[in-house]
Amino acid sequence: MGLHKTYRLKKRQVEALKGVDLHVESGEIFGVVGQSGAGKSTLLRSVNLLERPDEGSVRVGGEELTALRGSRLREARRGIGMVHQHFALLSSRTVAGNVGFPLEVAGVSRSERSRRVGELLELVGLSDKARAYPSQLSGGQKQRVGIARALAPEPKVLLSDEATSALDPATTESILSLLRSLRDELGLTILLITHEMDVIKRICDSAAIMENGEFRESGRVLDLIGTPGSLLARSLFPLPDNGGPETVVITYPRSFDEPFMSELTRRFDVDVNILGGGVEQVAGQSVGRLSVDMRGSRRAEALTYLSEHGLLVEEAGK
Ligand code: ADP
Ligand code: MG
Repeated sequence: MGLHKTYRLKKRQVEALKGVDLHVESGEIFGVVGQSGAGKSTLLRSVNLLERPDEGSVRVGGEELTALRGSRLREARRGIGMVHQHFALLSSRTVAGNVGFPLEVAGVSRSERSRRVGELLELVGLSDKARAYPSQLSGGQKQRVGIARALAPEPKVLLSDEATSALDPATTESILSLLRSLRDELGLTILLITHEMDVIKRICDSAAIMENGEFRESGRVLDLIGTPGSLLARSLFPLPDNGGPETVVITYPRSFDEPFMSELTRRFDVDVNILGGGVEQVAGQSVGRLSVDMRGSRRAEALTYLSEHGLLVEEAGK
């Protein structure tokens, strides 16, 4: 892909994408995380060519979108749904009217439309709200309408621009579970962008960290966490910054129920002092990350033992 995008403004240029390579596997949930202004929205809009990259190509489902124009491009775009942060619903239309809107535009008959809208509302758990207006809905319900509308043309790919950023934590959780179950049931491929690490942790199979128009790292979430120096691991597991030269960060990216700390002190006679850390569910697996001070004459042997047992060991200053 190698996407580049420069916005030419009156006085200055903004290089929003500086050569981004993004590859999303079919059926996976891929999250791009980064701070405001990193270029996430520009990247997402490049995927359906709402924003045409200056350089690079975009392929979706084997089709090169960047080579398409006019009606062929509009056709291809129907295979890509989009969910927005602020829902973008039509306030004068009912829930059913909003969900059916893309079908109306595509010239689908009234009876077929009402059948599809019924199915879609059931899928997102809003069957009883068909006649309600957006102003009568909670934020989470509005986003469900946004998702149902995005799914109306039966896309294979769903793009989500901060879909949960305007929602409270409990509602965020329910929308994320909905997205995951839609992926499982419909075989959707989902590309989402977010500034919340929690979203990556909860539902993403793969992720990229974006900064200043570039990916700092990207890959399968569990692989990244098992990679020394991973930014993603550091962001998912904030550790106290109180380490010294004896500090070691230990990551175990799989279900690991052996009591390795007590084993370590017994076998190698090291003193272990836990500085911080925790265990989190990441990509459906339990992952632990601990920052510890380890001292003793057999410290190096102890660390080798951990590495040999599949734990990632990162030493301070190395
Ligand atoms: P994010 O979604 O990560 O917050 P954006 O993709 O929206 O980042 O923006 C990336 C950069 O491009 C920012 O510096 C932003 O100001 C600039 N930018 C985005 N859209 C436009 C536009 N339409 N015109 C000019 N500059 C833009
Ligand atoms: Mg944005």
